[in-house]
Amino acid sequence: MAETEPAPLLGESTPPPPPSALFHRSLQQQPAKVISAKGIYLTLDTGRVVIDACGGAAVASLGHGNEEVIQAVAEQMKSGVSYVHSLTYTTDAAEELARHLIDGPQGGGRFGLTRAYFVGSGSEAMDSALKLARQYFFELGQRGRTKLVARRQAFHGSTVGAMNVSSNVPRKVPYANFQLDNISWVSPAYAYQYSNWQRGETEEEFAQKLVSSLDNHFQRIGPDKVIAFVAEPLVGATSGCTPAPRGYFKGVREVCDKYSILLILDEVMCGMGRTGTMFAFEQEGIVPDIVTIAKGLGGGYAPIAGMLVHQKVVEVVKKGTSSFNHGHTYQAHPVACAATLAVQRIIARDGMIDNCARMGRVLHALLVETFAQAKYVGDIRGRGLFWGLEFVQDKALRNSFPPGVLFAARFQAIAFELGVAIYPGAGTYNGTRGDHAIVAPPYNITPDELIKIVDTLKLAYDRLE
Ligand code: PLP
Repeated sequence: MAETEPAPLLGESTPPPPPSALFHRSLQQQPAKVISAKGIYLTLDTGRVVIDACGGAAVASLGHGNEEVIQAVAEQMKSGVSYVHSLTYTTDAAEELARHLIDGPQGGGRFGLTRAYFVGSGSEAMDSALKLARQYFFELGQRGRTKLVARRQAFHGSTVGAMNVSSNVPRKVPYANFQLDNISWVSPAYAYQYSNWQRGETEEEFAQKLVSSLDNHFQRIGPDKVIAFVAEPLVGATSGCTPAPRGYFKGVREVCDKYSILLILDEVMCGMGRTGTMFAFEQEGIVPDIVTIAKGLGGGYAPIAGMLVHQKVVEVVKKGTSSFNHGHTYQAHPVACAATLAVQRIIARDGMIDNCARMGRVLHALLVETFAQAKYVGDIRGRGLFWGLEFVQDKALRNSFPPGVLFAARFQAIAFELGVAIYPGAGTYNGTRGDHAIVAPPYNITPDELIKIVDTLKLAYDRLE
């Protein structure tokens, strides 16, 4: 006889909780509920404590619950200036934040990036950058420049503009026929060493091949029609912390300059100290015309993002219509700017970007020691505190698991159960890769905390192998 559950006694049954009124990312699964957080630790309503080893998607640069930031937010609120419209007003919080990011010791001013523009999300920052780049050529009278070129296996955001320059295939499935037609992706190769670097080719030759393919792409579509080339210096969500081969970005800059095409670097995920320097582009020896920044900027204390704009672009707009006719109601939001200014001042005061570089070396060594021989870990790549593990079915062949296997998602789920949160890739899809997990803890993490994280990840991995 089949075993059946005994019927609950009267008053003993617990009714299921009512369905959430929130439109969650998944309408099937309720995410874990966090009730408090401090440093790298998140406490769930179940009483479980989880180490936040990825800050969601590389957001928490400073860790959670920092008292100085809380104080700065409270003071901005207490001043009564919780919101004013940027068309008419500015605030100390926004002005000082811009000054810090431009003229601070690690600011963009060192590279000719002379203006900061603040919005609420990375996608808004990317849309702002694309429109400003278009306006640059409008002002110059080059109105036939309407095309944008981006890279395969990259993600630039969820708004229609930013999504369109992205080629993160799984995130675009329902929107396949929802494309702007003035965007193209450079092919065949993208700067993804692990999967595209041919045996026998030097790193320089690989970089040069990619640069030539970009040049050819510009030639094919007509370089005088192109507004900008868009790229993440280290590809985040789509490829799991992949840097480009040495020399690639120098070559990209040269090709863009050859045709007066603007270079927009998306440092939404990899910027603001995450790779061990304030900007990831510093390690490439080039300067973009516009760089977008977000996650580590406010460290999650406020929804904030922005772009830093090169003086060359500022001058053209200033001499032209003199206004950027693109605005968001919440741009340069005073409370968000106050929180972010506090975050950035603490990071600068406490030398946390240097610590990020130092702890990055510790994390890299731990990951290599623990996973280099692991059967399904094909690649360990990244910089600073931004590391990705790529999972493959066969290390010799470097081939991904088939679509649907979702190794990274399973790894993430087990690691979460064991008490460490990491950020998984979306898996492979129609020939694209993406079975990776990202480890991106706050810049003030300690070696002991890193050991605890990596030990837990090993336990999780061992359950899968
Ligand atoms: N650009 C990159 C490189 C990102 O990783 C993301 C988000 O993950 C975005 C843009 C979009 O940022 P947001 O989600 O804040 O709109």
